[in-house]
Amino acid sequence: MCAAVAVCVGGCASWRTSPSLPSAVNVNVGQLIVHADFDLAADNRLLAELEALRPRVAAELQLPASTLPVDVYLFQTQRTYRAFLHKHFPTLPNRRAFFIESESQLAVYAQWGDRAAEDLRHETSHAYLHGMAPQLPLWVDEGLAEYFEVQPDEHGLNRPHVDRLLALMRQGRWQPDVVRLARLDSLEQMNQTDYAEAWTWIHWLLHSTPENRGLLLGYLAALHDHRHPLPLESVVLERHHDANRELVEHLQQIDGGARK
Ligand SMILES: [Zn+2]
Repeated sequence: MCAAVAVCVGGCASWRTSPSLPSAVNVNVGQLIVHADFDLAADNRLLAELEALRPRVAAELQLPASTLPVDVYLFQTQRTYRAFLHKHFPTLPNRRAFFIESESQLAVYAQWGDRAAEDLRHETSHAYLHGMAPQLPLWVDEGLAEYFEVQPDEHGLNRPHVDRLLALMRQGRWQPDVVRLARLDSLEQMNQTDYAEAWTWIHWLLHSTPENRGLLLGYLAALHDHRHPLPLESVVLERHHDANRELVEHLQQIDGGARK
């Protein structure tokens, strides 16, 4: 599973000249500047999909599409990817892909492989989101990235998350708690179940009622406009006194619909 981090770091210029940073191939695809250490064709289908994700995220969230460039660094092997991360981001958890926001750059780092499509949709979503709605709380940021990481024809339905949460709930090992989730403020604190719950809140807001959809879109619009909205979890709980129960019902409805 991948993750986003927003860190202010210095020394970007030195990274660009680092021998371990991919530079053999450099391809511009819309706002994406893709650097790879292997032979990557400019017309690779995944690159086109990642560029198409930018207007899709904007349309779904009703925000102006980000115009900021995003650097995408692709490593052919796990060894070179891990060596790079270990050298430049030694404190980050071990994940297959990362999004890094610095003062001068939005950048995605990922290893190429079987999971690259999902990983890159997730991390590139972070880059687009940070370009459109600054200061996203971690759980909202991750929930949205988990929403957009699935293939476009899934319309945000992250089926493995539904299965995971319902199974844990049947075992008495999970109940939603948006206040607890919103308190998590570092990647190290977030486990797979937290990612799944974050996704569920976003999916519930976007797909349950027009009012809930408006609640999320209004919150994101306020962030976009730097209007410092009330915390999203506070607004959710103000409108829905039993929001945690509603979230469980939403999961069960998805599960029931999928089995019909
Ligand atoms: Zn993430």
